[in-house]
Amino acid sequence: MKNKNFGRRDFIRTTGLAAAGAMLGPGTLRAGVRSQLPAVLGGTPVRTKEWPAWPIWNRETDEPLVVDDLRSGIWSRASLVTRFEKEWGDFVGTKRCLSVVNGTNALITSLLQLGIGGGDEVIVPPYTFIATVAAVLATGAMPVFVDTDPATWQIDANKIEAKITSKTRAIVPVHILGLPADMVKIMAIAKKHGLVVIEDACQAHGAEIGGRKVGSFGDAGCFSFQNSKNLAIGEGGAITSNDDAFMDKCYSYHNYGNPYGSVVGQVNAGTLIAGNKLRLTEYQAAIGIGQLKRLGAETELRNANAAYLRERIGKIPGVTPYTFSPGVTKAAFHLFPFRYDAKGFKGLPRAAFLKALNAEGIPCSEGYAPLNKMPYLQNAFQSKNYKKMYTAAELDINAFNKRNNCPLNDKLCNEEAVWFYQSMLLGTRADMDDIVDAIQKIHDNADKIK
Ligand SMILES: *Cc1c(COP(=O)(O)O)cnc(C)c1O
Repeated sequence: MKNKNFGRRDFIRTTGLAAAGAMLGPGTLRAGVRSQLPAVLGGTPVRTKEWPAWPIWNRETDEPLVVDDLRSGIWSRASLVTRFEKEWGDFVGTKRCLSVVNGTNALITSLLQLGIGGGDEVIVPPYTFIATVAAVLATGAMPVFVDTDPATWQIDANKIEAKITSKTRAIVPVHILGLPADMVKIMAIAKKHGLVVIEDACQAHGAEIGGRKVGSFGDAGCFSFQNSKNLAIGEGGAITSNDDAFMDKCYSYHNYGNPYGSVVGQVNAGTLIAGNKLRLTEYQAAIGIGQLKRLGAETELRNANAAYLRERIGKIPGVTPYTFSPGVTKAAFHLFPFRYDAKGFKGLPRAAFLKALNAEGIPCSEGYAPLNKMPYLQNAFQSKNYKKMYTAAELDINAFNKRNNCPLNDKLCNEEAVWFYQSMLLGTRADMDDIVDAIQKIHDNADKIK
């Protein structure tokens, strides 16, 4: 290979695929990329091509059901919502499914109908979207944070038992980034201590442990269909469960507390439970039915591209890919994470790395900030309700911070985490190679960028 500008595709064309595979192999850069000037310093980006768009909308297959519904004027909850719930419950593998307005309210509804409220402690991870903890606070319960396992990015199941007290009522494991939490261990702990488990599967549509879908392990599974999620409706959510009595209560609650199923009173008894109004619309369900047809194939593609990308970037010093929790047979990859170690990049800080990577045409982000240390907690503790439900000592924010210290999560958030987005994993192998090339280019030019 004397010609430095000899591109990989030209090379393949000249020598044939088999030879290219044998000679280039995984982990080999396209010739020339390594030595080029980084884009952040004014050089040519590795990539200028667009990434796959999200959400996906197919006029031919997705529009008829939506348009028919719009023209029918049946927009409030009716047969399409029921059909979507049946299809989503079948997909997750639970007996029951209830759709609601969003994932946040799926969590709030589940917590309330499992009896969680003021004075209760609920175990949560600090590495999640704000909605997980906001839902706990909405019920009046006290969030208790358990540190993250930086290898899996999930709640560290081995650290849960140390946080259980006489007030602990529930665990809310989050399958964050679409990688499953260690549900086998978590369910065993819950059983031992008599706790309920509400899975926050809002990023984990179709992820599996031992061939079984997440959202079917706990007392309840909660999903989001917000626009960015792997099944996108714009807004929307769902609760999945095998518990009929619980699901009847959830249904009643989402419909003002009116009678439903086993939630029955005397004739003319009227509204039975203190409810809310959280119903999905027919046209939202129609969009969801269309999207669900593609979800299986999209999940397979994300998994295949993620496995390839993981293998290749894992060879670059300073890059540590994720590890799956025990028994994981499929992930959902709402995000693709790796841990960045500046030491492997000649001390280049993560922020400078992200800026350089974005400049190469690779969208990326540092991800979440630590959720156990944000001002919303103090705000909740100063509320009228919290002051009536808890002692001043329980609401002391400094004491709370000490109890809820999560040093490994701090490091993950503040120094290490790098994310790619799920829609990038819907690209081609060549798209994945662009990501590898860009990281390797920054790695090799870290001195100059610094
Ligand atoms: C998106 C999300 C939610 C909330 O879902 P919404 O539909 O946006 O209300 C909850 N938990 C996690 C982990 C999420 O990613």
